[in-house]
Amino acid sequence: MTHLFPTYARLDLSVKEATGVTVTDIDGKQYLDCAAGIGVLNLGHRHPNVQKAVESQLNQYWHMSNLYHMPIQETVATKLAHHSVGDYVFFANSGAEANEAAIKLARKATGKSKIITFDQSFHGRTFATMAATGQEKIQKGFGPLLETFVYTNYNDSEALETIADDQTAAIMLEMIQGEGGVIPAEQAFIDTIKHVAQKHNILIIVDEIQTGIGRTGKRFAYEHYGLQPDIITLAKGLGNGLPIGAMVAKQALGEEFGPGSHGSTFGGNPLSLAAANEVIDTIFADDFLKEVEEKSTYLCNALKHKLEHNPAIKDIRGAGLMVGIEHEEAASPFVQALLKEGLLVLSAGTNVIRLLPPLTIQYKEIDKAVELITTVLNKS
Ligand SMILES: *Cc1c(COP(=O)(O)O)cnc(C)c1O
Repeated sequence: MTHLFPTYARLDLSVKEATGVTVTDIDGKQYLDCAAGIGVLNLGHRHPNVQKAVESQLNQYWHMSNLYHMPIQETVATKLAHHSVGDYVFFANSGAEANEAAIKLARKATGKSKIITFDQSFHGRTFATMAATGQEKIQKGFGPLLETFVYTNYNDSEALETIADDQTAAIMLEMIQGEGGVIPAEQAFIDTIKHVAQKHNILIIVDEIQTGIGRTGKRFAYEHYGLQPDIITLAKGLGNGLPIGAMVAKQALGEEFGPGSHGSTFGGNPLSLAAANEVIDTIFADDFLKEVEEKSTYLCNALKHKLEHNPAIKDIRGAGLMVGIEHEEAASPFVQALLKEGLLVLSAGTNVIRLLPPLTIQYKEIDKAVELITTVLNKS
């Protein structure tokens, strides 16, 4: 028997090693990785510059408590502040922890407790972030939940205007709902959020855990919409596989998180920070992001072209290299069929096949992925 908790329905692949976009299993079979963890390995497996940075840090020190200064934290925080709307950074170990920090900060800073989140959202699995997540299947069996969240329809401006009031501390959202089915926010909806937030003095928290760090072709997905969030949260792509989370907030919120207000033993660990430092320098270069946009157009055009006569395909959507193919039927049998063919992809919602390849994927690898996907989907 396995001694691992059966919390995951694992697919039939046992990993031996991985480099770039290629994963090799224990039998020597190779896979093209268009999942990248779950949108984690934005620079691919064992990117040489990231590896070098982490090795160098391994030879300096592995851990110090946050009772002392670690210059690498200052370096990465300064870069995140420079590249985002935020000024202050709190480092955690995961996405859920970054969101926990954001929720605590929003409540303390506003003195209010009501936080609006959206149907099909995903914000994590801890008690607060599970409650924030607008999906019954994730909350089932764990009640009573933290009473702070009220849920409303995503992309429904009218519903939001009805539910938001002066008692609302924050609106928390993903710019493109990832786990929920690769569902992009509409510009008009984001404009309503801006307006409503201003009217009722509500903080805007954007969960960029999946969409941030170049995934959508911009540094952060809110840039597509001209939105200025008060708080953003990061994790997945930030450490390129090393565990890290971050909450980035505007200067006015800094005072609310004084000494003793929040903390984490492992948060901001120097190995993950060394990786993040390299990730930021590489991905936040204009040329790199422009290429992500170009690859995105190439990938989506190829998929649309080769799937246009398939009546079971309902939609192909996303931004950058976060792409969803909505199928009439459940996605998971296709994910399994593609695994057999040597391609790693993800599902989202129930019937969306989700692609989150490393941003470093090459054009001929995109061709290969498109060929495998369209062959499998057009066969059924
Ligand atoms: C993955 C994800 C999280 C949770 O991150 P963990 O590191 O698993 O805690 C939260 N929000 C979004 C949008 C995510 O995609």
